[in-house]
Amino acid sequence: MKRFIGICILITLIFTLSLCPTTVNAAQYPDTLRVGIYYGSAAVTAVDFKSSEGFSFGASSGKDYFPFRTVSNTNITVTKSPVCAYHVLYESYNNAEEMNSRIDALNSSGMSVFPAFYNSAYCVFGGNFSNQNDALWEAENSPVKGTPVAVSATALQIKDSSNGQVLFIMDIPSYGLAVYNANYHNPDALLTISGSASGTYRGGFECKSLSGDSLTLVNIVPVESYLYSVVCREMSPSWHVEALKVQAVCARNFALSRINYHKQNGFDVCRTVCCQAYSTTADQSKNVHTAVDETRGELLFYGSDLVQAVYSSSMGSTTESVEYVWGTPFPYLVSVDNSYEDTANINNGIWTKKLTKSRATEIMNSRGYNIGNVTDIIALEYSPNGRVIKLCVKGTNGEKIFERESCRTIFSEATYSQKYTVSAGGITTPPIVSVADSNGTKSLSLSSVAVLSGNNHPESVSGTVVATDGKATTTHRPTTSGGDPDTFVFSGEGWGHGVGMSQYGAKAMAEAGFGYQDILKHYYTGTNIQKAY
Ligand SMILES: [Zn+2]
Repeated sequence: MKRFIGICILITLIFTLSLCPTTVNAAQYPDTLRVGIYYGSAAVTAVDFKSSEGFSFGASSGKDYFPFRTVSNTNITVTKSPVCAYHVLYESYNNAEEMNSRIDALNSSGMSVFPAFYNSAYCVFGGNFSNQNDALWEAENSPVKGTPVAVSATALQIKDSSNGQVLFIMDIPSYGLAVYNANYHNPDALLTISGSASGTYRGGFECKSLSGDSLTLVNIVPVESYLYSVVCREMSPSWHVEALKVQAVCARNFALSRINYHKQNGFDVCRTVCCQAYSTTADQSKNVHTAVDETRGELLFYGSDLVQAVYSSSMGSTTESVEYVWGTPFPYLVSVDNSYEDTANINNGIWTKKLTKSRATEIMNSRGYNIGNVTDIIALEYSPNGRVIKLCVKGTNGEKIFERESCRTIFSEATYSQKYTVSAGGITTPPIVSVADSNGTKSLSLSSVAVLSGNNHPESVSGTVVATDGKATTTHRPTTSGGDPDTFVFSGEGWGHGVGMSQYGAKAMAEAGFGYQDILKHYYTGTNIQKAY
C-alpha cells in the first residue's frame, strides 16, 4: 500500500507539471453516436413513440438528419409498410419547404395528404389502399389528379397510433426513417419509446428495414448526452464524483474508439455490456451530470493514439497486462497495483463457484468441443499476476486447451474472472494402514509407508491394498471427502476481464482523495489527457 501511495504521489507530481489539457483536432470526432437499441434477433415489428411536444420526422443518413415535416400528433407508430400498400402520388418537389406548403394548402382545401420520400423526391402522397383499383379510383376522382403507386418491400411508414392515419412514407432504402422531438434543433430534446428498452431518451431515432418484417432502431444521440446514461449504468450514480469523472472519460474514450463497431447493423455501439451499458434518462444523478460536464471533451491519449480505455468491475490486488487476456500487448494496458480496491467486501469480489461434470460437458458440447464427458479441468499456466492463461479440459474422447480470456469465458457461469484456482471436487485420501515396528503399532497414511519387495527394496504403494496377518485379509480403499467428486470448485477474485481501470479501485482511490486525472493515469500507464472539444 505504501509503495502504491508513493507511486501515485510521483505520478501526481509528474503530471501536475506536464499535463495541462491541450486541445486536439475536434473535427476528427463525431458529435453524435449511433447507439443500437433494437437490432439483430431483438429487432422489432413496430415502435411506438410519444412526445408531448409533437414530432419532426424525415430521412436519416446516419450522420445527417433531413427533416421532412413537423406534426403536433403526440403518439405515433413506425412499422414496415404492408406488402401491396398503394397510395396516390400527387406531386413531387426538390425541397421540403415547397412540399410542406403544398401539403398545408391541399389539407386546408379538404383533402388528406402527407409527405413521402419516394423516387428520391419530396412527394405529396394521399390515400392508403390494399389494392391498386381503389388507389386508381382515388387518383382519378380526387380534386387534384394523381397517379397510383405501390411502395417497395422495404418501405417504412409512420401512423398516428390512435387513429391509424398515415403521416409519412419512407421508400428510399439507403436512408433510415428518422423520428425526432418537434424541437429537433435541440439535440437533447426527449422522446419516449415502447418495447423492452422502453423509456425516455435524448436525441432522435433512426428506423431501418434491414431484414424481413422487422425494424432496427438506432438512437442518434450527442456524445456527451450518451455519457450521462452510460456513467450511471456502468457505475452507481451515488459514487464519489471523482470516480464518476474517471468513468466519464473512460466511457468517452471507449465510445469514440468504437465508431462503426456494429456497422453490419448500421450503428456504432450497442446498448449492452458488449460495448457499454446504456439506456434511458432515468437515474441520472446531479453528480453524474457534473462528472460528464466537468470533463466535457476530455480524452485519454497515449502519445497521439486514442487510448482504448477498457475497464471492469473489480480486479483483486493487481490489474492484468492486456497480453494475458487479449493477446496483443499495449504499452498503456499493463499490470498495476490495485490495492485500494476493497475486494473482500464488494459484490463478487471474492467468490467460489461450483460446476458439475455433466454441466461442464453440456457447455463443451454446446460450444462444439466434442471431447466426450468432461473428466477433469486443470489450470496449466498462470500469468505473473495470478490469472489463468492456459486451461485444460479433459474428456473421455480427448482434451481441449483454452488460452487467455477464454479461460474465463468458457465456463463463465463458474468464473467471474481469470484470477482463480480450480480443483476437482472431492479430495482423494489414501487409506490409513496399521504399521507395527519395535515401538508399537501406528496408523499411517498409505502414502507415507513403503513395503519391502522380494529383493528387499522399499517400494511405495498406492490405490487399494489388501493386507493379511496370516489369519484374515483386510481391504483398504482410498476415500474421497471434501465435496462431490463430480463437481469442480472454482475459487477466485475480481469480476470482469481485469484489464485497465478497476471501477471499485477507482471508487476507493477517489474516496482516498485522488483526483480523476491521477486515477486515470494510474490505471492507464504513460497516458495523458487532452481536451478534444
Ligand atoms: Zn456492442
